[in-house]
Amino acid sequence: MIFDILTIFPEIFRSPLAESLLKKALDRELIQVRVWNLRDFTEDKHRTTDDYPYGGGAGMVMKAEPIFRALEEIKSKDPEARAILLTPQGERFHQGLAKELSEQKHWILVCGRYEGLDERVRLGVVDREISIGDYILNGGEIPALVFLEVISRYVPGFLGSEQSVEEESFSDGLLEYPQYTRPPVFRGMEVPEVLLSGNHAEIKRWRRRESLKRTYGRRPDLLERADLSKEDLEYLAELKSRQGTR
Ligand code: SAM
Repeated sequence: MIFDILTIFPEIFRSPLAESLLKKALDRELIQVRVWNLRDFTEDKHRTTDDYPYGGGAGMVMKAEPIFRALEEIKSKDPEARAILLTPQGERFHQGLAKELSEQKHWILVCGRYEGLDERVRLGVVDREISIGDYILNGGEIPALVFLEVISRYVPGFLGSEQSVEEESFSDGLLEYPQYTRPPVFRGMEVPEVLLSGNHAEIKRWRRRESLKRTYGRRPDLLERADLSKEDLEYLAELKSRQGTR
């Protein structure tokens, strides 16, 4: 999986890519990340990447030319590469979309700053627009890291052999069940007995039910799209009748 990132602040990416699973994936060449400084695609002596907005108003707007040049150069070497503009006005990112986008092997991530980018970037050279949520960040760098990390988790081998992205919250449309580790009693709070029982069928059933209960209590909207069995539906009906949420 290849990620090309276009930014005016390349240093932001240094530390997140130098730790933990992302570092391991880079070392093992499961993913490849190239961070491009948009200033290297300017042609004036001040290496200008932004300018005043036409029509007036506060703030600056990122110029189209350096972004077009960078994208055209990268795409000329790999016509299969697709460009994403990180923008709060884009399609909302979620696990299902991440899974779909993880099929694509080469993404170019365009990070905006200031008041955003010249509209012609959106019109002329990006393939998709993604928002990581309904709030405004200073720039697209953190959204690009969010995208990169979520997508990388689908790369075979990224999580290690024993873990699967399919077992996490959202992947089957539900929130994950509660997790515990040692000690069995902490400050008077006990680990549910079933988890200590060694009975795998019972543990599986308990986890499914906790997952349903948690989703029902916290994110009932998710249940509308989740893949539910007859037993799940019966348990939900039972929950509703006693209005238990946690
Ligand atoms: N004026 C723009 C607007 O209202 O749509 C927001 C500009 S924001 C301060 C600067 C840049 O941060 C954006 O161009 C985008 O790249 C990035 N950004 C901010 N919030 C984001 C979000 N929720 N999702 C994705 N990118 C975001």
